[in-house]
Amino acid sequence: MANTQPVLIVGSMALDNVKTPFGDVKDALGGAAVYSSIAASYFTGVRLVGVVGEDFPDEHVEFLSSRGIDLTGMQRVPGQTFRWTGYYEFDMNQAHTLDTNLNVFERFRPTIPAEYADSQYVFLANIDPELQLQVLDQVKNPKLTVCDTMNFWIESKKDQLLEVLKRVDIAFMNDAEARELCGSYSLIKAANMLREIGPKVVIIKKGEHGALMITKDGFFSAPSYPLEEVKDPTGAGDSFAGGFIGYIASTDDISEPNLRKAVVYGTTVASFNVEDFSLQRLGSLTPRDIADRYCELKQIAHFEAIE
Ligand code: AMP
Repeated sequence: MANTQPVLIVGSMALDNVKTPFGDVKDALGGAAVYSSIAASYFTGVRLVGVVGEDFPDEHVEFLSSRGIDLTGMQRVPGQTFRWTGYYEFDMNQAHTLDTNLNVFERFRPTIPAEYADSQYVFLANIDPELQLQVLDQVKNPKLTVCDTMNFWIESKKDQLLEVLKRVDIAFMNDAEARELCGSYSLIKAANMLREIGPKVVIIKKGEHGALMITKDGFFSAPSYPLEEVKDPTGAGDSFAGGFIGYIASTDDISEPNLRKAVVYGTTVASFNVEDFSLQRLGSLTPRDIADRYCELKQIAHFEAIE
């Protein structure tokens, strides 16, 4: 029997304004920690640390609790919740940011509750890298630390982000971010540069073109699930990362073959997320939905050996 472990997730909790060619939403539940926590909750217990303002609707808190997410570490403080406004054109692999209002995140200092300090699995979702460093200072002896980031922080807090990279085991980045941070068009060169900075494993997300994992043993390439309809890619990377670490924590196994399975679980969960806006699809999955799509992905990626 797997020694199932909870995962500690720290990152943005948001109200998003998003427009895609297929519709738009205003003040919709979002944020990297929200997407990744919901995704991880299909695999294991989640301890969420983040901050919201007075305007954050109670129904969102109830929704997170209904997924069994432990909100002891969520702060509600005076002020407005973090807001991100963005849009996508027909190339939905690229998000265009119109506005980032940090609001309550400006003064946020993550406090890891004492009972979370021994968390073995830690996911530093997209957030100011200075805050990611503060979290690393507060966890005792984690077995696996994973981080994600985005262009906003690569451009505004590069040095702090490099510090984070020195201290984590696995780094997630999308293709454009890896190229921007490393100044290399080749994703392989970029991933190897990142591995030299610190993380032993680098996972490059390539949107609808799948994901690439680079470890000391070599490469693993997973396709994306071929969807006919994509409505809103917001949170795809976060739900990918949440599914990935949620699955690993649920098995307490960080071997390379299990990391591969985790990449496919991440891919699977992310594919549901993009089928609808905000958390509308990601928030209502069943274990059967996830298992069926995982098996389809295995079939899609299979090919025979040379005789
Ligand atoms: P993804 O599509 O996976 O890259 O993540 C989208 C989510 O990231 C949205 O729900 C936003 O609220 C959140 N987000 C956007 N910009 C930032 C930022 N600068 N820091 C933290 N979270 C952000």
